Amino acid sequence: MNKNDFNEGLLGFLDASPTSFHVTQNMSGMFENAGFIKLNELDKWELEYGNKYFVTRNDSSIIAFTYTKDSAYTMVGAHTDSPNLKLKPNPVTKEHGLVKFEVEPYGGLLLNPWFDRDLSLAGRVSYLNSNDELKDAFINVKKAIATIPSLAIHLDDKANKDRSVNKQTDMCPVLTTSDDFEFDEFLKWQLSKQEILDIKELYASELSFYDTQKASFIGLNNDFCASARLDNLLSCYVGMLSICSVDVTKPMLFIASDHEEVGSESTSGAGGSFLENTLRRIYSDYDEYIQMIRTSILISCDNAHAVHPNYPSKHDKNHAPHINKGCVIKVNSNQRYASNSKTISKFMRIASSLNEPIQQFVTRSDMGCGSTIGPITATRLGIETLDVGLPTLGMHSIRELCGSDDAHSLYKILLGFSK
Ligand code: ZN
Repeated sequence: MNKNDFNEGLLGFLDASPTSFHVTQNMSGMFENAGFIKLNELDKWELEYGNKYFVTRNDSSIIAFTYTKDSAYTMVGAHTDSPNLKLKPNPVTKEHGLVKFEVEPYGGLLLNPWFDRDLSLAGRVSYLNSNDELKDAFINVKKAIATIPSLAIHLDDKANKDRSVNKQTDMCPVLTTSDDFEFDEFLKWQLSKQEILDIKELYASELSFYDTQKASFIGLNNDFCASARLDNLLSCYVGMLSICSVDVTKPMLFIASDHEEVGSESTSGAGGSFLENTLRRIYSDYDEYIQMIRTSILISCDNAHAVHPNYPSKHDKNHAPHINKGCVIKVNSNQRYASNSKTISKFMRIASSLNEPIQQFVTRSDMGCGSTIGPITATRLGIETLDVGLPTLGMHSIRELCGSDDAHSLYKILLGFSK
């Protein structure tokens, strides 16, 4: 796939995927279109060589794989979640002539960029129907229905010096001036748009606010892509297209897990059993399972911090990635990243054979280092792992920035693993 088509598809994927549920739903659709067979964890699996499959867990994590006699898998990992503001179970407060929503920050989000944005709401709703069956549905309001207004500078003359943000009191989105607003009625109205009318009782929801501003290419020469959720939908998109492009005889697996932004410890997170359970069903013989694990490689893809031109001292000077200068290999001797010299060398050899640039990132020794799904999966499975990512500015802002060259470059390298 050429770079232009690749990048156009990226924008559509970002806009259509406001929550980890929608990410998973969109990837499922993509895999079905590409001939992958849907598996259900509740069924007995009867896999056949030469087919490709996918399976989801909690509607928010997904694994796709080719099923081949060659068990030296190239596995690509990413995560479906991004930091956001999640609605609390009893979200509505009516005061000062306005209806506002109470929210709980999910993950390590940058709070300030959330002010004065045109916000919408999306996620999963669970309800009881008239047959006393529990059902789930996804909603995506799409329209901007709320905003978090800034406090005017006239009311806070220290605003540009030392204003801090209180997560409990300062971040509530304002919804309407109509004080007859009822939350359940609002949800039923959203469900009715999908012809879901048989609702006896609404029980629970997992809904997130998101910015309605569309993803776009910006910069004098369209050098950049600006969007919400680039961390980590950029990697999801690259991984998804890679496995869709690979020949079915080549062993490849793609996993995108939920809950990375909160530590991956959940049934659907990378610290959970989803990947291990799936691999054990593919390789029920324990010897063959271990051989597969030890001959395979996991390329864990999660965005990397590009050096910020206004804050260059935040980077180690010899390990400061630039936008549009290629995929970043992440190294940390304290194993916050799982890359080692052997996995790095495999990646470098393929990148160099394709003339694709790569860069290396090491956090400054006097600063803490983030982590990601790579070390968690490596620890859990014992699979040789490499942590890479695409250079990004403003990570965990409501609008992040990456280069328009780098994602396609990583896509070519990942395909190079299956040549
Ligand atoms: Zn991430």
